[in-house]
Amino acid sequence: MILGIITGVGLGTDAVILKPIGSLFINAIKMLIVPLVFCSLVVGVSSMQDTNKMGRMGLKTLVAYLVTTAIAISLGLLMGYILEPGAGMNLITQEEIVTKDAPSLINTIVDLVPQNPVQAMAAGDILQIIVFALALGVSLTLIGKKGKPAVAVLTSLAEAMYKLTGIVMLFAPFGVFGLMAWVAGSYGLEVLLPLMKVVVAVYIACALHGYGFYGLIITLIGKLNSLRFFKTIVDAQVIAFTTSSSAGTLPVSLRCSERLGASRGASSFILPLGATINMDGTAIYQGVTALFIAQAFGVDLGTSDYLTIIATSTLASIGTAGVPGAGLIMLTLVLTTVGLPMEGVALIAGIDRILDMARTTVNITGDIMVTTLVARSEGELDMDIYNGHKKPTITH
Ligand code: ASP
Repeated sequence: MILGIITGVGLGTDAVILKPIGSLFINAIKMLIVPLVFCSLVVGVSSMQDTNKMGRMGLKTLVAYLVTTAIAISLGLLMGYILEPGAGMNLITQEEIVTKDAPSLINTIVDLVPQNPVQAMAAGDILQIIVFALALGVSLTLIGKKGKPAVAVLTSLAEAMYKLTGIVMLFAPFGVFGLMAWVAGSYGLEVLLPLMKVVVAVYIACALHGYGFYGLIITLIGKLNSLRFFKTIVDAQVIAFTTSSSAGTLPVSLRCSERLGASRGASSFILPLGATINMDGTAIYQGVTALFIAQAFGVDLGTSDYLTIIATSTLASIGTAGVPGAGLIMLTLVLTTVGLPMEGVALIAGIDRILDMARTTVNITGDIMVTTLVARSEGELDMDIYNGHKKPTITH
């Protein structure tokens, strides 16, 4: 990563020639997502005989994801309020404000069930894949002995996908190098300096949430050693930081949660869900940037606007894919609901990748944190593995 930054700074915009190395790595890792999530979730569900437990885990996961996201956006707003990144910019908006509607909750729920699971897989729609895999896993259990051959095939495929993840990760240093060189080369100081305060505010808020808040929850609620947690997930954090995609980081997050001792059933259910619906870093970013834009254009926000921002971005994060730049699109939604000028998005767009790297890292840290805690509360976390007394089952 450091070598990539140095090379990128040295080459400047020419560093774009190194981008294909990064893209090759991203493609290889994305290639794993659909088969890995599908196979391991079906196997996980079919091995978890207790359907009540699945239901409980699902409920706890959803509540934890929503509550932490709401806290994240409040922290983002607070940091934007204290650090005032847009103060004194005195920009004037030219545009008429058109308001858009937030995506309806009902449509989001209806779309959870795929009309065609093969199409859902081809499109990489993770929520739809989860629903189908859950249903298939339960059905395979219900048919008893007749389901065994299918489970055996999928178990073997899941194992192969875990192995393949390990092989792809051998190339991570090259991919990370290529991506970092490209980012460092294309974002010079002249782009970053005018908006440095926003960058600093987002990074501080992300660090507070991702290390401070999560560290506290892991220690106080999970009664676990938080240092060990952060040490084990470094791989996933580096990949998230460089690729800016929580969906793309999924295979690595799954490996990390296995190394933490979470069962395959629990992690293959909770993590893919998180990669799609849980975006604490994105929420923080929206809080800071919404306030930045309000300050830059001299718009006063009232208490109801703050509450609207919290509600909109918490709900908007459900169903938004964990891909680079998704947060910027969600930001347009948040801005329109409180009537902030859309020109603010253009300001932010220039530095969005730099912000995306930090927010994606927090997004996946939150996913793995919730996975660990929910698994612990349901007896699905092997404490010997967590504490390093026993090796995880992954062979790579
Ligand atoms: N890139 C983020 C992610 O994949 C989403 C975002 O743009 O905020 O988690």
